Amino acid sequence: MPELHRLDKGVYGVTRLFHPAGDFGVNAGFLISQNKIIHVDASMTISDGEWLLSQSLEKAITKPSKLLLILTHHHSDHIFGIRVFKEAGAKIIAHEKTKSFLAFRTPPLFRRILDTYKPFILKRMVKSMDYSKKEAEKILGDVKLFLPDETFKEDREMDFGNGILHLIYTPGHVPTEISVYHSTSKTLFAGDTVYEGMPLTTRFGGPKQWKQWIKSLEKLQQLEIKNIVPGHGKICGKEEIQRNIEYLENLLREH
Ligand SMILES: [Zn+2]
Repeated sequence: MPELHRLDKGVYGVTRLFHPAGDFGVNAGFLISQNKIIHVDASMTISDGEWLLSQSLEKAITKPSKLLLILTHHHSDHIFGIRVFKEAGAKIIAHEKTKSFLAFRTPPLFRRILDTYKPFILKRMVKSMDYSKKEAEKILGDVKLFLPDETFKEDREMDFGNGILHLIYTPGHVPTEISVYHSTSKTLFAGDTVYEGMPLTTRFGGPKQWKQWIKSLEKLQQLEIKNIVPGHGKICGKEEIQRNIEYLENLLREH
């Protein structure tokens, strides 16, 4: 079951959303101001996407005029719930590399992922998580992917109604990766730039990307931080950034 954490007024982190590889789950979050709800990441399933959206709508006092979804990167565990937000009228924002990655080739990758990766996840759910095929299909749901409506290069600032949101380009885990920082509450939604209490998923790159990842983490270290919502693991403090840097430095020494 997902866990909802209220980190500050209108600022929520969500941990332990469904993930087919291990019980740590995947994380997401949302921020609420008077006229906006901004979600960070869409979870991996339609059922979790629906749950996330119902939570933010319930917490918003008045129905906000704008719904936005920011994607930290293009990986399935962070975007497969996207349909729920799109159908609710959300504008989807991501780094331009997320868009170019999903739109890559003809037919575009974001359509082909559904033909290849969705059956792979379903099979894994049946094999290693003991779901029946029917249950697995129900949980994952009718996944459909969409390209971001708006993209940016490098960093971007967004007026959120309750302070500024900083979308910070933090490549390393993958080249599409961003982190989302809300300076008013000192909350960092780090996506997979930060892992809490577990090994980092480094298989998408090599030494060059790991060095870039360290640079991204050092950039995040400059921020004043009260809470980090990592891509995976528990809500944590700034010290976890140092642990992630050391993990990558050790890895580089072995290569
Ligand atoms: Zn992830």
